[in-house]
Amino acid sequence: MGVPNSGIWSSSELYKNSVLQLEEAAHVMKLDPNISERLKKPKRALCVSVPIRLDDGAIAVFEGFRVQHNMTLGPGKGGVRYHQDVTLSEVAGLAMLMTFKCSLVGLPLGGAKGGIAVDPNLLSRQEKQALTRRYTSEINMIIGPDKDIPAPDVGTDGQTMAWMMDTYSQEKGYAIPGVVTGKPVEIGGSLGRAESTGRGVVYTIVQAAQRLNMRLDNSISVSVHGFGKVGAIAAEEMALLGCKVVAVSDVSGGIYNKNGLDIGAVNEYFAKNRTLKGFQNSDAITNDELLALKVDILIPAAIDGVIHHKNVSQVNAKMIAEGANGPITAEAHKILVERGVFIIPDVLCNAGGVIVSYFEWVQGLQNFFWSEREVNEKLKDTMVNAFQRVSACMDRYKTRDMKTAALITGVDRLNRAMLLRGLFP
Ligand code: NAD
Repeated sequence: MGVPNSGIWSSSELYKNSVLQLEEAAHVMKLDPNISERLKKPKRALCVSVPIRLDDGAIAVFEGFRVQHNMTLGPGKGGVRYHQDVTLSEVAGLAMLMTFKCSLVGLPLGGAKGGIAVDPNLLSRQEKQALTRRYTSEINMIIGPDKDIPAPDVGTDGQTMAWMMDTYSQEKGYAIPGVVTGKPVEIGGSLGRAESTGRGVVYTIVQAAQRLNMRLDNSISVSVHGFGKVGAIAAEEMALLGCKVVAVSDVSGGIYNKNGLDIGAVNEYFAKNRTLKGFQNSDAITNDELLALKVDILIPAAIDGVIHHKNVSQVNAKMIAEGANGPITAEAHKILVERGVFIIPDVLCNAGGVIVSYFEWVQGLQNFFWSEREVNEKLKDTMVNAFQRVSACMDRYKTRDMKTAALITGVDRLNRAMLLRGLFP
């Protein structure tokens, strides 16, 4: 049928790419077209206006969204993004990826996502709090521990989740920690949640290296695009494995040292200065230069669409681990696969966050909390198991790329559940 070119969902590249990936998987696995047609569109979306009073007394109104793509397997699950480029279509594409991710790693959860079109760096703490509280209040009729459970994403963090949890609880009249995950530990968060996505990225790299007979030691160079919640931890864990992290970057640019950066020191420097610029023993590089570095492993961990048809010819990595959601466009992905680059797909690579979010939700419902070691062990088991199932699916269907196999693995479970539940009415 092709990607629908009209309609409210399909204006963003990320949504179109997500549909293209689904179509490729559906074709290879010979998926019932009735199921693939249903999966190409979200179940529901809520668009809201979020008015807040700015510190100078003026009122500003932002656009906010919450999209629930598919809830066959359980309540919706997915982050909330604060970024100036957020649109309904982008949020819908990200919600679709969440559906496949939750299904792939075996969680009893559906796919959802939320966002506000705002640059959070331009808001004060008080303005961000007002924005978060009003957004939560506007979407409160469709979220809840049994309905849809938000989490942090780009531009949001544990503090944002604490404000969301408090607002939702105030409106209901009692504490409901299960409404969000990624909360601070003091109010019902899980140990290991903050590090889970970055750690999970590295667990999949270890598995991929085994598949490729690559030894992860000091001879392996790594670059990380995006030094946020995912990228900073992934960089730290790769350094702990003994690899050379030669470059890291954030939105304002990056730093490079061909002999490897001291990631512990970079973290300290960044925490103190809120910038990577000026870090000792390193050269400044641009984000474009970082993506073009000749390295063994590239971890794009910032935003979507950063590797595209215009810059793909310069990408010079043997393995790419998609820490971010959708960092490689469908067109660029095809070119890289033809060139023999091994790509660990986002729905598998960055699933650590939603896995530990699920652990947090379960711990909260039981009011029984686990040690960090227990969380990490369960995370590792789940990631390794998912990688091996996707790897086996690659061999079974003889797919050249891991993305198609990951989608097949996720869609297969969902397909069986959707067929069993049938179509209402
Ligand atoms: P974050 O806001 O903590 O960090 C994003 C980083 O990317 C920051 O360093 C920022 O400066 C940088 N960045 C933003 N725009 C950039 C650009 N145009 N060029 C270069 N760098 C840029 O966000 P995060 O939570 O680390 O999320 C990063 C990616 O990982 C997103 O795609 C998100 O959807 C995905 N993800 C996050 C989680 C999670 O648990 N946080 C889970 C799964 C997937």
